[in-house]
Amino acid sequence: MDTHKKLLSSLPKTDELLKHESLVALQQTFPRPVVLDAVRDAVERVRAAIRVGEDIAFDGDTLAADAIRIAEARMRPSLRPVINATGIIVHTNLGRSRLAEDALRAVVEVAGNYSTLEYDVETGERGSRHSHVEKLICDVTGAEAAIAVNNNAAAVLLVVTALASRKEAIVSRGQQVEIGGSFRIPDVMRQSGAKMVEVGATNKTHLSDYAAAITPKTGLMLKVHSSNFRVVGFTEEVSLADLVELGMERGVPIYEDQGSGVLIDLGPYGLPDEPTVRSSIEAGVDVVSVSGDKLLGGPQAGIIAGKREFIARLKKHPLARALRLDKMTLAALEATLRLYLDPDRALLEIPTLHMLTRRPSDVAASARLLVDRIVESTGDAFWVAAMPDVSRAGGGALPLADIPTTIVTLAPRTMSVNHLEERLRLGCPTIVARIRDGRVILDPRTLAHHEEALVVDRLAEIAAGEPA
Ligand SMILES: *Cc1c(COP(=O)(O)O)cnc(C)c1O
Repeated sequence: MDTHKKLLSSLPKTDELLKHESLVALQQTFPRPVVLDAVRDAVERVRAAIRVGEDIAFDGDTLAADAIRIAEARMRPSLRPVINATGIIVHTNLGRSRLAEDALRAVVEVAGNYSTLEYDVETGERGSRHSHVEKLICDVTGAEAAIAVNNNAAAVLLVVTALASRKEAIVSRGQQVEIGGSFRIPDVMRQSGAKMVEVGATNKTHLSDYAAAITPKTGLMLKVHSSNFRVVGFTEEVSLADLVELGMERGVPIYEDQGSGVLIDLGPYGLPDEPTVRSSIEAGVDVVSVSGDKLLGGPQAGIIAGKREFIARLKKHPLARALRLDKMTLAALEATLRLYLDPDRALLEIPTLHMLTRRPSDVAASARLLVDRIVESTGDAFWVAAMPDVSRAGGGALPLADIPTTIVTLAPRTMSVNHLEERLRLGCPTIVARIRDGRVILDPRTLAHHEEALVVDRLAEIAAGEPA
């Protein structure tokens, strides 16, 4: 009891601690209230430890160091970069696509300056924010008209509301999909005020099912891409071309929610044949929408392309105002779409496309190099090996595609594999890796060149037994 009291009374006062050299310096960069709170917290933690009888050693230096750690944790951005070593390219939880250099530059320029957002330089009058991307979308997809909104979920809501509110929208039972993050086609239908008319069975829907469901109240026939699952076995889906033909015959517009948004044919790169937006436009679809940040590799956006009369109705709808893009996203989207004017450049410069189409031999070379560098800088802390595996497109895109890769596996000799994964995740920079079969695995396919060095450095720190 006496020692408690003695210890408690020897705790320095907040004001005194704030005069500690390191904390004076910290106040040059951090707001004073943050430093003050951190000092109070640091002292309070020690006080609590003493009260429960912990044998704790402290002085001004240790308390100041604790306060700095607390303040730094508080000032660390919540939304911050991470290194994605998972091999999942369009990783929704990690922000889906990283932007191309051109897109990054465009965002900085437009965000830091006044811009032509809604200003027509030719006439000196008010312009349209849609104009910055419409022509590019049309050039890249072959569509007559286009509009971009906040994301593809917003696109679906806008299209269905504008074209089928208080009418019926026909959709196959096999396409009642949930995309994750509680985006479900039936829920969007309800929200839009359209009455959903389900046709066919989960595994099979025939053209005659659609034909039989058309009534004078039909506003739309909807085809939804099965982005994140695949129905296999005894299955049948109606082709877009057949649906378009039926729609023309019966005067019902066809809308395709294509999901991932492939603008160039990835077949030649060993990836499954996904319909491109252009192929849907060529098949005669009235409206098609895709995400901007999945396989397209741009910012979060929903891109809607199609026939002029329908796009005009979308632009006029009040929801379009609520779902419109901000200038930073427009800048990034415009720059990304411009890269597509030269598909070879798009494949090189849009990170998502580059990672997706990196040759297996190239990834294997990166993996071997990574193994050598890890062994060199961590000694015998880990068993390190390179082995064949598969990367994933992720993000509800190319669902079951196996993309051949070479991974680096790490089995720590002294700590648990869970501890290693946690040290990577909680350290600086944040490194997200997977655990499998008692090893931490790193897939170089999703690592940028400069990130490989950061991973090696971090592993060296962990191997050297850095403080927790
Ligand atoms: C991903 C996806 C959506 C939602 O797109 P967001 O851009 O994430 O809003 C809608 N439909 C399909 C088929 C999808 O794959």
